[in-house]
Amino acid sequence: MLSGHGCYRAYLYKFKHEESPKCPSCVGVDENAEHVFFKCPRYNEARKELEMTIKQSITPESLTEVMMSSKEAWRAVDIFASKVLKDLRIKEQERKQNADRRKKNEDGRKKNEDRI
Ligand SMILES: [Zn+2]
Repeated sequence: MLSGHGCYRAYLYKFKHEESPKCPSCVGVDENAEHVFFKCPRYNEARKELEMTIKQSITPESLTEVMMSSKEAWRAVDIFASKVLKDLRIKEQERKQNADRRKKNEDGRKKNEDRI
C-alpha cells in the first residue's frame, strides 16, 4: 500500500535490481534501502526528527502501518524519505563525477605516455 510514494518504491526497486554499493560510513555494510532508512547513522538526525513526530521508532515491519495511521505520519515519513533520497542522489552524482574525472585523468595519462 505504498502507492503514491513513488520515490520510496523506486528506490527499493532500484536496490533490489542493482547491486548495492557499500555504505561509505559503515564498514562492510551494503547501502540498501533498509540500511539507509532504518539503520545508517548518517541519517540519525533526520530519523530522530521523524520518530519524534510520529512518537515511535520506525522498523521495516512497522513503516507501512505508521504511514497509513495518519496524514501527519504519512507526511513525516515522506519528508524523511525525501531527505534521505535527496542526499543519496547527491552522493551518487558525486561518485559518478569522481569516476568520470578519474577516467579522464587516466585517459590523459595514457595520451602522455603515448607521446613519450
Ligand atoms: Zn551506513
